[in-house]
Amino acid sequence: MDSTLHGNDIEKIVSADRAHVWHHLTQHKPFETGAPRIITEGRGMKVWDHNGKEYLDAVSGGVWTVNVGYGRERIADAVRDQLVQLNYFAGSAGSIPGALFAEKLLEKMPGLSRMYYCNSGSEANEKAFKMVRQIAHKKYGGVKHKILYRARDYHGTTIGCLSAGGQQERNAQYGPFAPGFVEVPHCLEYRKEDQDLGHLSGADYGRAAADAIEAVILREGPETIGALCLEPVTAGGGVIVPPEGYWPRVQEICQKYDILLHIDEVVCGVGRTGTWFGYQHYGIKPDFVTMAKGVASGYAAIACLVTTEEVFDMFKSNLDDPLDYFRDISTFGGCTAGPTAALVNMDIIEEEGLLANTVAMGERLVANLTALAGKHEVIGDVRGAGLFCGAELVSDRAAKTPVDEALAAKVVAECGAQGVIIGATNRSVPGYNNTLCFSPALIATAQDIDAITGAVDTALTRVFG
Ligand code: PMP
Repeated sequence: MDSTLHGNDIEKIVSADRAHVWHHLTQHKPFETGAPRIITEGRGMKVWDHNGKEYLDAVSGGVWTVNVGYGRERIADAVRDQLVQLNYFAGSAGSIPGALFAEKLLEKMPGLSRMYYCNSGSEANEKAFKMVRQIAHKKYGGVKHKILYRARDYHGTTIGCLSAGGQQERNAQYGPFAPGFVEVPHCLEYRKEDQDLGHLSGADYGRAAADAIEAVILREGPETIGALCLEPVTAGGGVIVPPEGYWPRVQEICQKYDILLHIDEVVCGVGRTGTWFGYQHYGIKPDFVTMAKGVASGYAAIACLVTTEEVFDMFKSNLDDPLDYFRDISTFGGCTAGPTAALVNMDIIEEEGLLANTVAMGERLVANLTALAGKHEVIGDVRGAGLFCGAELVSDRAAKTPVDEALAAKVVAECGAQGVIIGATNRSVPGYNNTLCFSPALIATAQDIDAITGAVDTALTRVFG
């Protein structure tokens, strides 16, 4: 225990935290009376807090990140060795792990061939937006500069990313936003009545939801639209798995109007949905893919923007113009810890067969949650892709009335009391902070999945009777 406390007693740590740390996504007023939770240790699927309480982590570090689980000495050892050899060098120089990880990852992404390193999902998305804007200037006199984003999707925390953010509660109070970002409708079949598409289902709904994107393009003028940015499976907006028929139509629309397709794999990337990338379920060909969380499972900060040779070539075409290359840098894109951890992370996924495990355990999780829906009226819809699942809670099944967000939060708290950490959509889409979220590490066993849904069963009974 001493090593994790660095020789300090826990009271000292708690009081230092309370006095100085501004926590993410947290209203701090309650911290003046309650104690913050400090996580001190993690092993496999489990973490421990400062009181020694053990938790089964069903959300991979809170925000779907720790894909290969906690305590991987192999990653830590590789990072340590690399940091001693060379920790950092930035600018136009490369690094050994940077080259090796790019090669290994891109082998899994046919059609894509260039990797740009940075630090966070937001930053990777910003860089893609900048490339789209620069291509508009280079090829289209600045006209084809607009970026489409989807209602309920999230792309990051910066003002640029919030401008592409389809979650009004996250955006509230942070405007004004950047111009040139335009929203298209969501594709959540469970909420199709909101779009007057209640008469359609399955692939018919999927195609109609994609047609709604085309309608926006025609309204704005296709000559003004540079890119369409989408999550393959919407995460914080409610774990939305697009219906059949959606993606092929989206691809068709992008090709028809010469629109670059940017897939935000910050959550889905590197195994979460049971394939290396979420878009690979649908046979689509993106022009940009951004990724972050699972790339190194949180063992180092790394994010990547991946693109095609065609896009890359556009940035080296005009040697007469001194401004005609991608004039962008990421200071910590030059830290070697990220690609080193990411390389070993990929090796672990391959060697331990974690993609296949994700598919099998994801099916078990959805089956268990669906069984719970048979018992608890409050579960209106269960959705999932691999180990990335959501259960939407409603107070009236026929009317699909979302439960109050305080009740979803109570279910999360009741699971926590039983030693299982789950999540819920939080301050994202107004009125729809009602979806329980599950994203356990890809190493989850059947026993883990059953323990997670067992805790949810008890929590739902405690909260809703
Ligand atoms: N895109 C998606 C889909 C995300 O869920 C997130 C973070 N939750 C981001 C982008 C932003 O990533 P980061 O927090 O690393 O900037």
